Amino acid sequence: MIWSHKYVVKSESYLQSLPADKCAYCSLSLVRWDGKKPDVIGSSNAWSHPIVMVCNSCGWWYVTFFVSESIWPNDTIFKYATAGQLKPLDVNDISVPLSELRKYLLAKRDARFQINPKRFEDIVGGIFRVTSYSGDKGIDVAALDGSSNTFIGIQVKRYKNKIEAEQIRSFVGALMLGGYSKGVFVTTSAFRTGAIETVGQSAALGLPIELWDGDNFIEKLGIERRPAYKGIDDESAPFHYFVRSPESMQMIESFEYSGSAYEASTCQLESAAKQAADVKTQKR
Ligand SMILES: [Zn+2]
Repeated sequence: MIWSHKYVVKSESYLQSLPADKCAYCSLSLVRWDGKKPDVIGSSNAWSHPIVMVCNSCGWWYVTFFVSESIWPNDTIFKYATAGQLKPLDVNDISVPLSELRKYLLAKRDARFQINPKRFEDIVGGIFRVTSYSGDKGIDVAALDGSSNTFIGIQVKRYKNKIEAEQIRSFVGALMLGGYSKGVFVTTSAFRTGAIETVGQSAALGLPIELWDGDNFIEKLGIERRPAYKGIDDESAPFHYFVRSPESMQMIESFEYSGSAYEASTCQLESAAKQAADVKTQKR
């Protein structure tokens, strides 16, 4: 699970920092799910249905509720919210499941430079119909092209530096010697002009090569995605806890925060929770 959160906050500044329709991490459109109305809870608080906003690409989410509190002589409606926060994840840790790593990269693009090279290869492989991970003779991954049933040779380079013409030339050689009819060169960085020109020469000779830079790679990852969650009742979703049992949530009454709600650190929320608890104690 790459998202975490455990507090629900009643705060205007917090609510206003939540985006209406675009994911705060990857900027794609959010999907809205409305929850069922829970029973009246406790003696005074009545909860309206939760509204969950999710990003089906990277999996970011937030939940809002309306809570009616009986404050004599009327009931007053308050809005509460909580947003997913990206947990720090060691992209070099090979025990992290690939599916999590993919979502993490979609949310945090810059992390691609730190990823373990073998894992990067596996993620790229996940985009293709892989036949083998050879790793020898200059081809990292061999895959079958879905449309033409021909073999594609894939080279994967987790680099910060731009790819040079020379690297493309040796890739062309490896493709030819291996009998591949197409090549894909994937890098976390970008390509130098000479590298792009070399690809043009190779295509003219009948060997097309696709170049994927860091942005193309993230884009392809996104296209290959499955929906991040099954629906509002998805028990494995990080927001499930808030939807299922709002009465058990840890509430923070009033929390002034000038940044973005989803970036509020656990530490800041903890201190706000403590303050709220202190205020309650003093009232008694
Ligand atoms: Zn997103």
